[in-house]
Amino acid sequence: MRETKLKKFDVMISEQEIDRKVDEIAAKISSDYEGESIIVIGVLTGAFIFTADLVRSLTVPVETVDFVQVSSYEGDKSTGNLVFKKDISTDIEGKNVLIVEDIVDTGRTLKQLKKMFEERNPKSIKICTAFDKPSRRVNDLVPDYNCFTIPDKFIVGYGLDYDGKYRDYKDVRIVRTDDE
Ligand code: 5GP
Ligand code: MG
Repeated sequence: MRETKLKKFDVMISEQEIDRKVDEIAAKISSDYEGESIIVIGVLTGAFIFTADLVRSLTVPVETVDFVQVSSYEGDKSTGNLVFKKDISTDIEGKNVLIVEDIVDTGRTLKQLKKMFEERNPKSIKICTAFDKPSRRVNDLVPDYNCFTIPDKFIVGYGLDYDGKYRDYKDVRIVRTDDE
């Protein structure tokens, strides 16, 4: 049943490739923060799986794991203002913050979210994303850590959804439109 559904989409990145890359990025992060501890903040909902995998692979002490959920209100401006649907419950002042995101697309979400957290005076703030689509960027946002750079395709799986579905897939698949 599930397998038949899966065949609709082509695999872009396998489960094994993801596992390997997450361990590699976790090792890099752990070595960069050597002697320090960090607070990990996952961006809901997409980053819940990546956050869970990443924190279990880190060797640097993780003080706490928290989650934030944001949404962007367009209003009468096209840029969209970011508001918290769920704020973190952790005080990040003087702390090393690592924001964990599923995918960076235009970069609007993370650019604003980083600024909002910077106002709380953390010691440092970095961004780690599972996937990056740099060709779609509208600003200068560059993630500090990125597992996979991908082309301008809509992907699902490993936490990423299409209409709420497919977040549970262990690999990453490309959703094709009818004319492709
Ligand atoms: P942006 O960087 O444009 O502000 O927004 C990034 C958000 O758009 C991601 O966190 C994700 O929710 C959504 N997004 C962007 N590209 C994709 C994609 O290829 N697949 C899925 N499922 N979501 C995407
Ligand atoms: Mg997201």
